[in-house]
Order: sequence, then structure tokens, then C-alpha cells
Amino acid sequence: MQYLLPLLDESVSLAEVHSRLLTAFRPPDHWFYLDPVSQMVMAILGGRTYRAVSKAAFHALLDRFGCWEAVRDAAVEDVDAVIGQVTYSDEKARRLQAALRRLTALRGRLDLTFLADWPVEPALDWLERLPGVGRKVSTATLNFSLLRKKAMVIDTHHLRVLRRMGLVRPRASLEEAYDLVMPRLPQAWTAETYADHHHLMTRLGERICRHKAPDCGACPLQEMCSTGRSVPARQEGLDK
Ligand code: SF4
Repeated sequence: MQYLLPLLDESVSLAEVHSRLLTAFRPPDHWFYLDPVSQMVMAILGGRTYRAVSKAAFHALLDRFGCWEAVRDAAVEDVDAVIGQVTYSDEKARRLQAALRRLTALRGRLDLTFLADWPVEPALDWLERLPGVGRKVSTATLNFSLLRKKAMVIDTHHLRVLRRMGLVRPRASLEEAYDLVMPRLPQAWTAETYADHHHLMTRLGERICRHKAPDCGACPLQEMCSTGRSVPARQEGLDK
């Protein structure tokens, strides 16, 4: 029997959060969907790295090696040299090659399209057996790729907002936050809405609910947020 863990603040509707963020920010751009292996590579490169930098590293890998098989089989120093601008590039080069090699050993080739027919939870479990693939990479592989599955991606910005809002414990792990949030997402949401929600939450975390100093007075979620409610609302006309 599966027990449904409650969000800490059950009064908050994630649909309302989404709607406020859509009003506050421009709707996210529509996606160019990658095949799932490419998306997994993109997500591995993206940890703690600006999107523009990880995207550039992704394209640099393809320019230099031509395909993921060649990246898998290259010397790790050569992969590291190409992705040198991303944070922890040496560690990511090792993790990336280890994941590609394990995938080849398990499936005979670099292909994740077989997951298209799988339910989300077993697909996450399967992906997380690959070295270096945690919940953020596995969910991004399922949701952002051509697989378009309903798996919510939660990164550090998104997690910080959930913690400060009091929706998850202040020290909740990404996996714990995922387990709490997933059952509360509206049934009607599509995989694209999931991706949009993630990007809106991340945008809030980057621009307003920043790591060092959240600007609660400018936040569209202030009244819904356990941290923000203790901060005086900014007077209309004074903000921005
Ligand atoms: S009100 Fe403040 S703490 Fe809450 S989500 Fe907004 S910026 Fe973050």
C-alpha cells in the first residue's frame, strides 16, 4: 500500500502557484525536444552550471566527437577538455562516460526510447541504476525529451522555493520533494505543463527567491509562502 505524504502546507494549490507565476513571468518558450539519450547528456552537464554554458558544452561535444558513442569511447581527458567550462567538468566527464557505458552494457546500444511505454516510476528506477543519474537527471530525461512523460523536474532553485514556501521540510531532499509534489499536481496537466511549471519555479528561484537574499516583497507567491508572510508586502508602485 502506498501512503500519500502530505505537503507541509496543504492549503497551497500548485495550480494557483502556476497561474501566479504565469502572470508574473512570460510563459516559458516552447521546447525543442531532444531524444532521451541526448537529454540525459544535457542534464548531466547541467548540474550547478548556467544553462547557456551547459548548452554550449553539449554542442561542443557533438562538434568534436560527432555522436554519443564516440563520446563514450573517448579518453576521459579529451571529454573533460571539451566540456571544461561546466562546473566539475572532470567529474562530469567521468559520470557521463560511465552512464553511457552502463547503458550500452544493459541495452546493447545507446537508446532509451524503450522507456516510452513504461510508467514513470519504473522508468525513473531504471534510469537511476545508471551511474551518475540521480532524480534530477532521470526526471529531465523523461520530461524534457521526446518521451514527454509526466515527471516533475526539481532542481536546486525549484527545491529552494518549495522549502521556503513551507511545502516541504527545510532540509527535504530532492527525492523527498518529488514524492510530495507529484501527487499534488493537477491531473489535467500535460507533460508540457510539467516542464513549464519547472521552468517558472526555476525562474522565480533565479530572479526573486534567490539563494542569498529572497526579495519577498516582489514575489507573486508572497501571501502563499510561509517565509514571505513574515515580510511586509511591498507597496504598489514602489516595486521594480
Ligand atoms: S515569498 Fe520570499 S521566500 Fe517565499 S517564494 Fe517568494 S521570494 Fe521565496
